[in-house]
Amino acid sequence: MNLILMGLPGAGKGTQAEKIVEKYGIPHISTGDMFRSAIKEGTELGKKAKSFMDKGELVPDEVTIGIVRERLGKPDCKNGFLLDGFPRTIAQAEALENLLDDMNSKINYVLHIEVPKEKLVDRLTGRRICPKCGATYHVEFNPPEVDGKCDIDGEKLIQREDDQPDTVKNRLEVNMDQAKPLLDFYDEKGYLVTIDGDREIDQVFQDIDEKLGKISS
Ligand SMILES: [Zn+2]
Repeated sequence: MNLILMGLPGAGKGTQAEKIVEKYGIPHISTGDMFRSAIKEGTELGKKAKSFMDKGELVPDEVTIGIVRERLGKPDCKNGFLLDGFPRTIAQAEALENLLDDMNSKINYVLHIEVPKEKLVDRLTGRRICPKCGATYHVEFNPPEVDGKCDIDGEKLIQREDDQPDTVKNRLEVNMDQAKPLLDFYDEKGYLVTIDGDREIDQVFQDIDEKLGKISS
């Protein structure tokens, strides 16, 4: 079961990824984790990636794709994987197609969790974090027991700069512009499955689960 998870920030990708991993026993592979482990293991590609990151430069596609290739070749991917945050561009998507072709494999589904932009703005601007322990809350969906205070250590909760309304709207628009060509690419290939993410977490997962059940049965 080879899956790609797509969705704008705040669409609930992380939550759904956890549920997919738990039920289907495939690894959740995010770009950040992939880079971190390649760098930690000190692979040639990991070293290359680090040299670009240290200079504050973008890691070139050939290095990123090499790292993806190494990661997907690991034993825990034998029953599949859930890619998250990769690919980001058409060039990367095409490279992934070639890579999977080489491995006699293919993408089964690209799960796109869709939530209206206005709802995402509400979700993202309501986020509060504890500067001391890093716990996250949401004023509406996951409020702390005492308003504005961390449940764990009582620290005053803060809103990150990134979660201010203008920053949020801007980030969503940039992400939408980036995602559009990829969604079209996968739609044309027939991989794209759009999931209505504007519902309860369990309902969203039930929908995903039904789609995935069709592959594993
Ligand atoms: Zn705390």
